[in-house]
Amino acid sequence: MNTVNHLRLEVSEHLQATAAAAVTHNLPDAQLGRGPALALQLRRESTGWHCRASFVGAVWEYMDEDIAEAHYSEDDWRRREKELARLGVMRVLERARGLQPKPWGILTGVRPTKMVHNMWDRGFTPSYMDTLLRTIYGVAPQRRTWVLDVARRQRPFFPQDPNSAVSVYIGVPFCPTRCGYCSFAAYPLATHGHLLEPFLQGLVREIAAVGTFLRHHGTQVHTVYVGGGTPTVLQGAQLQQLLDTIGEQLPLEACVEYTVEAGRPETLSEDTVRRLHGAGVGRISINPQTMRQTTLQRVGRNHTPEDVEVAFARVRSQGIPLINADIILGLPGESLVDVEYTLERLEQLAPDHLTVHTLAWKRAAQWHKQAESAAVQRHFGPAMVELARSTAHRWGMVPYYLYRQRDIVGGLENIGYARPGTESLYNIFMMEEKQTVFGIGAGAITKFVTAAGHVSRVANPKCPATYRQDVDALVEQKNTRFRQLLNV
Ligand code: SF4
Repeated sequence: MNTVNHLRLEVSEHLQATAAAAVTHNLPDAQLGRGPALALQLRRESTGWHCRASFVGAVWEYMDEDIAEAHYSEDDWRRREKELARLGVMRVLERARGLQPKPWGILTGVRPTKMVHNMWDRGFTPSYMDTLLRTIYGVAPQRRTWVLDVARRQRPFFPQDPNSAVSVYIGVPFCPTRCGYCSFAAYPLATHGHLLEPFLQGLVREIAAVGTFLRHHGTQVHTVYVGGGTPTVLQGAQLQQLLDTIGEQLPLEACVEYTVEAGRPETLSEDTVRRLHGAGVGRISINPQTMRQTTLQRVGRNHTPEDVEVAFARVRSQGIPLINADIILGLPGESLVDVEYTLERLEQLAPDHLTVHTLAWKRAAQWHKQAESAAVQRHFGPAMVELARSTAHRWGMVPYYLYRQRDIVGGLENIGYARPGTESLYNIFMMEEKQTVFGIGAGAITKFVTAAGHVSRVANPKCPATYRQDVDALVEQKNTRFRQLLNV
């Protein structure tokens, strides 16, 4: 039996849960309760927090005098105590077990950009934030640069008032097949196609009802994002019905961005592209994920790299101005050479925007905890992230949004790159929660944002049939919440 990671915690009662979570974060196979003691002491002094962590001969000690600065409150002192507890556990385990420093240090379950924006709002300077990210949060140098850069680029796009205009997300939860890593509401057409038409009628009803109450409140739609799933599984008259409903029912007079996700390139027929263009769609997301045919087959995507090229050509020939391409790093069996190959083929297509995901092993995915994860661990490396970064840079793109997911491979991140001037406002508003976003359709989430920055959510059911049944009640609920938000 492997007893290496048995340990017991010696820490004040009120820090037990924090320290235990930090141990698990750093040593996922740790068994708590017996074994050598990891001792953690935090002492409050007039000059700050003194933190000492020790474990099997390794010691980490830190005096945090920053927290004694006048701009911190009692709440900040309490929060900092927990942050230092997490930092102490991480640092002493690194020393005792020879662990590699984590790229994002102690940051888990928090959006790094959101944290930086909060600091920015308090008047902290970039160099001061950089110091805090290094000393308190243990974030590695490149990640610190990225997160500060991304936050700096995002701030000019933030609306003054999160409800003077809103964004709308429309979710169509169907796909041609289901990718092995998918954790979204995405029902394969072969098994759930019979639900598509009733779902569409519910969707049309919700769009019309949301449009009615937005007009009633004099609220314009700022951006529209149609995602899913793969909304372009809707073809011909069904697609037209959706596009007409969006165009006729939502108050789009001040809309500056209209995006449709065509994640599966094989769904972009010429007729579909023509209809999207006719409806005023200005941005299409075509998501190859990889340009390796063998990987596409392995992950359950029923298209070829050539389908991606055909889709790009169709969108360009119709004159739709902006194309995003999503890729995923860490797909099973792929090495750096495959990522290089994918980027080289994409370079020929010259996307305007590149989203670089790192594979995440989500619980809802078919692959969760399956054997493929071993292949990922063997092949995946930060060199892939660096290659994607340097390629995007060479293409004239800059990172402008960044987020992390639980179970993401290597503890890394997802990054959206764009050429300056082609950033997606919807992505910024959604990620940073700076504008109310109405989520319409199965699995869509509405986020109500108050002027003070508080966010509350209403989640639509993922199941298309349940969604169809509940749609009127959902609209009523959203209308009531929005009235409360506007104080009317
Ligand atoms: S295309 Fe996207 S939404 Fe559809 S199954 Fe694949 S990952 Fe899920």
